[in-house]
Amino acid sequence: MDVLISGAGIAGPALAHWLARFGCSPTVVERAPSLRSGGQAVDFRGEVHLSVLRQMGVLDAVMAAQTTPRDMVFRDPDGRERSRFLASFSGGDVEIRRGDLSRLLYEASADDAEYVFGDWITSLHDDGSGVDVTFAHGPTRRFDFVIGADGMRSEVRRLVFPEYRPKFLGYYFAIWDADGDDRNLICSPGALTAPGWLMYKSSVPPELMPYEVISPDVYFGSISQVRMPTVSSGRVTLIGDAGFGCTLGGMGTGLAVVSSYVLAGEMAAGGDAFARYEALIGPYARGCQGNPGPFLAPATRLGMWARDRLFGLLPKLPMVARTDMRAATAIKLPDYAPVR
Ligand SMILES: Cc1cc2nc3c(=O)[nH]c(=O)nc-3n(C[C@H](O)[C@H](O)[C@H](O)COP(=O)(O)OP(=O)(O)OC[C@H]3O[C@@H](n4cnc5c(N)ncnc54)[C@H](O)[C@@H]3O)c2cc1C
Repeated sequence: MDVLISGAGIAGPALAHWLARFGCSPTVVERAPSLRSGGQAVDFRGEVHLSVLRQMGVLDAVMAAQTTPRDMVFRDPDGRERSRFLASFSGGDVEIRRGDLSRLLYEASADDAEYVFGDWITSLHDDGSGVDVTFAHGPTRRFDFVIGADGMRSEVRRLVFPEYRPKFLGYYFAIWDADGDDRNLICSPGALTAPGWLMYKSSVPPELMPYEVISPDVYFGSISQVRMPTVSSGRVTLIGDAGFGCTLGGMGTGLAVVSSYVLAGEMAAGGDAFARYEALIGPYARGCQGNPGPFLAPATRLGMWARDRLFGLLPKLPMVARTDMRAATAIKLPDYAPVR
């Protein structure tokens, strides 16, 4: 089974790995000229996330590359500390820089998948028995299935569901490589910044923002949510942020890895695989979506005061603080049988 995956972020390489393990032939096309190395720390939470990494054979490498979770320290512009979001609440079981994770997943799939960098899909024609795909640079090719793993601004989603727009949650962010402590946050109403990242409130709709891949190492986007009635159409489906995006601070990374196992397992089982994939992943993904904007960068001084008080109370409210862990483990994974 020849499967084209658009996007070599987190979901794309993870899916390529699993499809190869289930006997399929994955091709990954990535718009950037090389693997995008940027990003701050992302994390995995709970046994569901860890079990998939373990089965992929990458858990030890992820552990070896892990970063040390640190408190997020909220400061006024003059440097005075306002509050702390303790690492024991903000972090997961293993935290790793996103670029390191993307590279590990790429390495875990590169021997068994074809990777094409610097190209992207321009059209899809699904005739019921296969999909003819045209590319910006390469020749037209035919695949059995096409999967959009091309992130929040998915081009596959735009081609297949042209009317759909992610719900804008009122904030933008940028992440880039920088020296300094990325957990030392300067805040003002509706804005938060630290070395390597920035988040701010805005009412400008994403359609009006000049978004593009600024450079392979800068990630800029809106905080938006993708909730679609279905993410599949014929022989095309979506995974990761493209289909279930919650961006930044949600559990997008764990969700992407778990979804790759389920999608590949269901595709290998045949039949109405995309419907079974959506039935399992849809409700799980909704539980993992969040909006860190108002939580981390409230728009008013009163909201900032309430945020600081809440951070102080969290050690006394562990059940409230760890709702993320319940969401991350709220799925029973089928026991698929990889062929290798
Ligand atoms: C450079 C970068 C840095 C990030 N840093 C953080 C972070 O610090 N914290 C955090 O919580 N989340 C971060 N994210 C988002 C996080 O990786 C995702 O929310 C989550 O892991 C889901 O992964 P994904 O593979 O679905 O999407 P992504 O990781 O966004 O990957 C999508 C991939 O598709 C590629 N792509 C886009 N359009 C096309 C196209 N038309 N054709 C082919 N390829 C295309 C992109 O270049 C990218 O490599 C970052 C994403 C990127 C790309």
